[in-house]
Amino acid sequence: MSTLHRISNLIGGKDFPGDGYERRNPADPSDLVSVSPASGADAVDAAVTAAGDAQPGWASLPAPARGAILMDAAEILRGRHEEIARDLVREEGKTLAEARGEVRRAIDVFRFFGSEGWRLGGPTLPSSQPDTLVHTRREALGVVGLITPWNFPIAIPAWKMAPALIAGNAVVLKPAELTPVSTRHLADALVQAGLPAGVLNVVHGAGPVVGEALVTDPRVAAVSFTGSTTVGMHIERTVHERRGRVQVEMGGKNALVVLDDADVEQAAQIAAAGGFALTGQACTASSRVICTPGVYEAFVAALTKQAERYRPGNGLDGGTLMGPVVSEQQLAGVTAAIERARDEGVTFAAGGDAPQGLMLAPTVLTGAGRESAVARDEIFGPVVAVLVAEDLDDAIELVNDSRYGLAAAVCTQSLAHAQRFAARVRAGVIKVNRPTTGLDLNVPFGGVKDSSSNTFREQGTVATEFYSWSKSVYMGWDD
Ligand code: NAD
Repeated sequence: MSTLHRISNLIGGKDFPGDGYERRNPADPSDLVSVSPASGADAVDAAVTAAGDAQPGWASLPAPARGAILMDAAEILRGRHEEIARDLVREEGKTLAEARGEVRRAIDVFRFFGSEGWRLGGPTLPSSQPDTLVHTRREALGVVGLITPWNFPIAIPAWKMAPALIAGNAVVLKPAELTPVSTRHLADALVQAGLPAGVLNVVHGAGPVVGEALVTDPRVAAVSFTGSTTVGMHIERTVHERRGRVQVEMGGKNALVVLDDADVEQAAQIAAAGGFALTGQACTASSRVICTPGVYEAFVAALTKQAERYRPGNGLDGGTLMGPVVSEQQLAGVTAAIERARDEGVTFAAGGDAPQGLMLAPTVLTGAGRESAVARDEIFGPVVAVLVAEDLDDAIELVNDSRYGLAAAVCTQSLAHAQRFAARVRAGVIKVNRPTTGLDLNVPFGGVKDSSSNTFREQGTVATEFYSWSKSVYMGWDD
């Protein structure tokens, strides 16, 4: 039987229920997954107060003791891996394999930053003065606000929370409206592992209400946001205006380049994995493929065959490679982009039929102009536009001719081509013979241009830099 989750805000260690939002399974609307609060600014105010009260005690714990709580939380998540993955499929729609991988990622992120508790610190440097030692300390910022999207509702909160907590901050998290259950599982694991009351607070509600209250609260020292470029840029401006610290990770229009010397079958598999897996709802999804002329026709045929494998279905059914689009609103945006492309005269090598409920077939478009919306705008659905470039240099120019710079990939057997691509493409993540999607948790992640604030990176050990500040201590003595 499917559980109905009644989600509460978590403020100062106490639960505050609410039922302003109802979330139904996108693959099965008869399955009511959760009810959750539509909070007001007063809940954010209370959460920031609770976080401010709890933070000094948390920061004064030895870092390895903070890390031990993250490690224990990872073990709790591991014990509930399957249950949490199934809830993630029900509320977001991704496939069970994708959901299992995402929960696994949260477990590993908690372990990684748990062990960072043994390593946090700054360099010790020689002083120009005699009998003086200089060392640097990294101090917690205080209260930090985290705002997260629905597409990775466990992994993204985990990769923001874990470095924030290990660095000694208290957190107020505002999860996406569509996916409150996933975040609740993370919070439960941390509470059960012994996280002191008030160190993590979760407030559910609308972005323009709860998110806005968090972003404008002067007691919130830093805001880390992942989501759309429009909202991210607004948050960046707002936090800068009050001289807070801000990190925004936003959209992408990620390109996969397929050169004449590529293995065509492998390139089509890579394009399908990058474009259709996760229903194309990944910030690093490949939503445009740029082929050189010698490979174009064979590639389109191979990708069209791949598209058949990604027929959409219920993520809980074994064998489903692609789940539904997350919501009616998201589907409306994706189908509007497809219809606009149709009006502009593109050819559908795959897809193009009306969706069934939220099930949208993988769509492969050819013949789109370089300036067309489908070739330039983020779509965030299983839609891939295949374009043609004259050669590698033209392809690189086309990749870079974008407001975004998140991820890019090239399929080639030439080391020289791969190196030229890696050196010249302006994107935060470059892949060679691998999909644009898929990241390692120990590797810095972020983009350039309108994809990212491009200041502090997320993930890997560098992630703690955003959540801490550096202090230089000159220690002198007299013999
Ligand atoms: P979104 O911007 O609509 O929402 C993201 C979060 O911001 C949600 O919690 C939302 O409630 C909140 N929000 C909305 N308006 C707000 C406001 N005025 N003030 C404060 N908070 C507000 O994005 P989404 O639809 O949830 O996610 C999809 C987008 O996220 C895509 O553009 C995708 O590319 C991007 N994304 C980026 C990355 C990355 O690392 N670069 C990762 C995943 C998703």
